[in-house]
Amino acid sequence: MMSDIMRVNLLPEKVIVHHGGPDPKGIYDGSWPHCAAYYKRFHTEISGKEDIGFHYVVENGSGGTKIGQVTRGREEDMEGGHAKGMNTKSIGVCFAGSFDKEAPSKKQLEAGAELIADIVVRHGLGVEDIVPHSDFTTGKTCPGDKFPMDKLKGTVEKKLKKMKR
Ligand SMILES: [Zn+2]
Repeated sequence: MMSDIMRVNLLPEKVIVHHGGPDPKGIYDGSWPHCAAYYKRFHTEISGKEDIGFHYVVENGSGGTKIGQVTRGREEDMEGGHAKGMNTKSIGVCFAGSFDKEAPSKKQLEAGAELIADIVVRHGLGVEDIVPHSDFTTGKTCPGDKFPMDKLKGTVEKKLKKMKR
């Protein structure tokens, strides 16, 4: 139930970047596409969360989505369910897909950079505040070994400079 999630007047200090990742528990039958609807099902039916854990999902074209389409998860003033210890002070952005073996498409990355630039500006954050989930976990590669964090941050930085002009 959405109402069980705390509204915390969340004042984010970080934007935490995730991927859908590989099947973490061996439960998926492999037929579910990587998209927000699938993550919501996983988080609510299998992980026991009240709702999808992320604030946003940048779609990759799977499950009837459009590449780069942004699906809202939790509202921004709601505590997240995506990074233990950081859920009350970060916005969780998931790039749909699994990026341990391949990078996201240019179009998906670009759309994610656009979204994150907007979040960063609205919350008075900087490019240095865009961080991978793996910074806060042990044993997780999230958002994946092949995810280009530097490229994402560089693209956000360019967008921020354009916005300031
Ligand atoms: Zn993650």
